[in-house]
Amino acid sequence: MTTREHLRRRVWRARYGVIALLLGLIALQTLVTRLGVLDQLLRPTALLGLGVAVLYLYLSPCLNCRKPLGLTAFRIMGGAPRRASATTAHCPHCEASIDRDFPGSRGS
Ligand SMILES: [Zn+2]
Repeated sequence: MTTREHLRRRVWRARYGVIALLLGLIALQTLVTRLGVLDQLLRPTALLGLGVAVLYLYLSPCLNCRKPLGLTAFRIMGGAPRRASATTAHCPHCEASIDRDFPGSRGS
């Protein structure tokens, strides 16, 4: 598996997690009026879920050195603006190419 494939998996996990959270909150909100759950708790929970998803992607590890890729993960996946001098195809810590295959790695 390459680091790029690993990142792609994490992006999809984060998307599914956020979608599941939002659907759960929508379902909960429909019950709010009946159960009396505070509506003010739903929005912070949604924002917290989005924050956790962003942090999950930010902490995506390089498959070579296991250090978090940080903003490089967002640049690789197209979620952050690219700098002209940015070398997005390499880990910022060990300079390993994100397209290098690491056999046997399943990621995390
Ligand atoms: Zn690395």
